[in-house]
Amino acid sequence: MSINCQREFELLKKIGFVRTSGSEEEFKAANMLLEEIASIGCEGHLEAFKAPTSKITKATLKVVEPYEKEYEIAPYNCAIGTPEGGITTDFIYIEDGLDVNLVDLKGKFVLMNTRPNPKLYKKLIDAGIAGYITMSGTAMDEEDKTDISIARIREKNTQHGKIPAVNMRTKDCFQMVRDKASKVHVEIIMEDIELPSQNVVVTLEGTKYPEDIISFGAHYDSVPYSTGVYDNGAGSVIIMELLRHFKENPPMRTVKFVWYGSEEVGLLGSKAYLKDHEEELKKHLLMINVDVAGSILGREMALVTAEQNFVDYIDHTAKIKGFPLKVEQSIYSSDSTAFADAGIPSVTFCRFAPQGGAFIHTRDDVMDYLSAEALEKTTIITKEFSEAIINSVAFPVERKIPENMRKKLDEYFDKDPKKEESSESKK
Ligand SMILES: [Zn+2]
Repeated sequence: MSINCQREFELLKKIGFVRTSGSEEEFKAANMLLEEIASIGCEGHLEAFKAPTSKITKATLKVVEPYEKEYEIAPYNCAIGTPEGGITTDFIYIEDGLDVNLVDLKGKFVLMNTRPNPKLYKKLIDAGIAGYITMSGTAMDEEDKTDISIARIREKNTQHGKIPAVNMRTKDCFQMVRDKASKVHVEIIMEDIELPSQNVVVTLEGTKYPEDIISFGAHYDSVPYSTGVYDNGAGSVIIMELLRHFKENPPMRTVKFVWYGSEEVGLLGSKAYLKDHEEELKKHLLMINVDVAGSILGREMALVTAEQNFVDYIDHTAKIKGFPLKVEQSIYSSDSTAFADAGIPSVTFCRFAPQGGAFIHTRDDVMDYLSAEALEKTTIITKEFSEAIINSVAFPVERKIPENMRKKLDEYFDKDPKKEESSESKK
């Protein structure tokens, strides 16, 4: 049977509800995927893991000088709160947090333009700040049409220590800076908790080389406030359609299909999979990820974390077959990167909308900007490449991560901040 994009689109509508890491809705979506897998005649199972997050019971921020106004805030999960009763302290805008911005910050609450990378985070901790604010949205957002994005602070930062951290509307931050806010009262009461999350896993045994494994991956969780159809219900239904295809056309090599949970809070699903399947990983030859697809306006891309000759192979094949596919050797912030970090070559297929053509990580990630026809494009490209490789006589991809990609991965996972510093100062 050939690819049926209407069927994909219908499944996408079905799973198109907010499915955040560790929520009941994420669990519900996992079970819907299991049902679909069973309807194809395959056997799937759930693999549980824990997703660390926070239970927030109070979060207020009020400017107390030179004017009084309370603003809405969204604390970072896995950061820490303030003492009960809150703190009243100086407020200062430190722009990009250049060294010149980082003087006399002790005990102050700071606002900055970007989320701090581990290097800046450590400098802020060393400077003794009381906490920091990052921005979400634009200066012209309307409160009732937008949400403050909820983020989770990553271990690569908190290894340097924990401080209160919050997201606020860019619009409110703009107002605070414009109106010269100088003192704030902040109270955040929160505690660390762990929520249950899960991956959905199916295996199709290879007919000729069962010891070789190629895995498909797509994360099925969403961020808060987002129905996550573009990011990444779309990838989830694409690999479901591919499961259907390979069930009917048995693959020569073993193919695993994994729908990852909790990708949006730091690739937790793929990291848990890699940890729980250490023995099996030696047999993984390639990870094929699909993350973000289906936008009516868009362009097809393949982001390859592997040797240059594999990049060229995909590029040449796209040209020969007439696929308008942009191929790049790079890393992509998704589960494929966790696999590449474990030494497994990976490729992510995706369809990127031009600016404003479709939306991720907001309440505007909805079906209106997607179509079955657009979904079909990424599905066909992914199917054509994966089928040729899965059924290749001699496997054409070397199981190796080249040096230039290794360096990018180390930077991404912040394995060696000293090295990162020296390479940055060379630029
Ligand atoms: Zn995604």
